[in-house]
Amino acid sequence: MSKVMVLTSLNVDYTIKTTKIPEIGETVVASDLIENFGGKGANQLLGIHRLGVDTIAFGKVGKDALGEKYLHHLQGQGINTTYISQGPEKTGLAFIVVDEAGQNNICILPGANGSIDQTDLDNIRDKIADVDIIVSQLEVPIAITNTIFSIAKKLNKITVLNPAPFKASYKMLLKNTDILVPNESEFISMTNLPNKQLSQEDILQLSPQILNEGPSYLIVTMGGAGVLVTSPEDQRFISAKKVAAIDTTAAGDSFIGGLVSQLVTTKEAMPTFEQVVHAAEFGNKVAALTVQKNGAQDSLPTLKEVTNYWL
Ligand code: ATP
Repeated sequence: MSKVMVLTSLNVDYTIKTTKIPEIGETVVASDLIENFGGKGANQLLGIHRLGVDTIAFGKVGKDALGEKYLHHLQGQGINTTYISQGPEKTGLAFIVVDEAGQNNICILPGANGSIDQTDLDNIRDKIADVDIIVSQLEVPIAITNTIFSIAKKLNKITVLNPAPFKASYKMLLKNTDILVPNESEFISMTNLPNKQLSQEDILQLSPQILNEGPSYLIVTMGGAGVLVTSPEDQRFISAKKVAAIDTTAAGDSFIGGLVSQLVTTKEAMPTFEQVVHAAEFGNKVAALTVQKNGAQDSLPTLKEVTNYWL
């Protein structure tokens, strides 16, 4: 059976609701505190899993109450947590302060995510040969992703990288990345563009310099506009589905879930441009369902929900 390995960052998100975001030195009174399971890797993992694909989760939480709680949560969703280890560091945390206008400030403590080490890697090393696709973002140590991607490429596996949250050192991963999936702000950071409204022309002009460094495909997600897929020879824009979006949290993660769930069925060492476009069209449909629900992991649809909606 086709399988996807997800390098899984795991954070517990605390969202604090206030009338205004406090200035330095200011104290404000909050109206609510909401605890959610998050982390880009975990969102991507669950996105892929809910679409009916067999996954292997590789990650780390703390040997603490939150770590136990997160493992139980994943097990309750049907995820095998054998390769999610527990270390002495705290489970990853994200503190999000949201004001009435929906603006936010976020502070992340990587904790155990940042301490995935050689021993953890040695435990999963043999499993790389059993999967078809490896997916990573940048919330786990880049050196670990780099080792796994380089082993994966020697075994002709497909590697998918979401360069988020952006770190300039992502560049070391490009030679072993097949499909690179940034959003607009990550693309701007990658290409050192001035921070402006990104156009399709900007992406088409700058994508050759990125594709030159290794990836076969670059897929830029452009929020409510859609997705631009480029390869050294070809390009295709896919418009976003016209839906009533109420919360775009995890839109990018669910797009990746949809994309990967289709790529895994191609069974080729490297999918063709048309196969990648087809997979991105499916990701677009999955993300369009996610933005119609509140929350991150709660809004990730099942395969049945996607096929029923887009019948
Ligand atoms: P996040 O960080 O919230 O997970 P992102 O910034 O990584 O999201 P976006 O580029 O905003 O990702 O969105 C990813 C994909 O989700 C888009 O390419 C599109 O397919 C879909 N999408 C996003 N917003 C909308 C919307 N308003 N209507 C329909 N589809 C949307």
